[in-house]
Amino acid sequence: RILGRHRDEKRLAGFTYNGIEFSQDSLNVFAGLCAVDNPKHVEEMLSALKANGLQCTRMGAYKPRTNPYAFQGHGADCLPWVFDLAGKYGIKVIAMEVTHEQHIAEINEALDQSGNPCGVILQIGTRNTQNFELLKAIGRQTRHPGLLKRGFGITLNESLNAAEYLASEGNNQVIFCLRGMKSDFGAPHRNLVDFAQVPTVKRLTRMPVCIDPSHSVGTRERSPDGILELCHATTQGIIAGANMVLVDFHPAPEKALVDGPQAMLLSELEPFLKDVEIARNAY
Ligand code: PEP
Repeated sequence: RILGRHRDEKRLAGFTYNGIEFSQDSLNVFAGLCAVDNPKHVEEMLSALKANGLQCTRMGAYKPRTNPYAFQGHGADCLPWVFDLAGKYGIKVIAMEVTHEQHIAEINEALDQSGNPCGVILQIGTRNTQNFELLKAIGRQTRHPGLLKRGFGITLNESLNAAEYLASEGNNQVIFCLRGMKSDFGAPHRNLVDFAQVPTVKRLTRMPVCIDPSHSVGTRERSPDGILELCHATTQGIIAGANMVLVDFHPAPEKALVDGPQAMLLSELEPFLKDVEIARNAY
């Protein structure tokens, strides 16, 4: 069980995946594209990660969109070149959302064909937190860890039970992600930033806890003191004890096909990582 509260069991849910440690003691930054758009942007993104010593990224191939006419992601078509580029830039783990059980098979097939040693964490988006058949499918397979986003309109306890679905089917490699809640009190952010709940999740469960400042804050705007709101939220989450940061960057946010306004510029990656380091040392 993931929802164990016994102190001695605390470390049991930590795991190492493709050489990267995920536990309630580790900290990994997954900076990358919200949505894969073209090989040039993916390559520029991965090159920036390598230059900054990062080995993990986020890359969205399957995008759940509010508007049916909006870009839905390139899906399986982009997987071969995304995995090849990941190999070229030494990426060890990619966080990638899946919205249907079939996507797991597509990812496996593309990984097997590319012969690329990169790993994929299967992300369950906030709109699918209670898609129980998808949860069971990701729980049944144990090749990839799962990254469960909290539901943006349900209680924390309901989201934690959704994570338990993965474990109940056999997959104990589960990371829980706080990504903000829908609320009128969240303004001027896209969602009510909920990173104060990092210690609560760590106390109630044995899962590593991820924060997603991009989908919580939802804007690259700066606060009156000139600091990016995204950096403020991230450092607060890390000081609260977050173990993973899922964050949107883009080489040309104005051309991004999904969520451009919340993507940070590549020139902001280095200062962002410095802030992460300062917050890590403060935790
Ligand atoms: C995402 O991370 O790309 C995403 C769509 O997030 P969420 O499910 O939290 O909205």
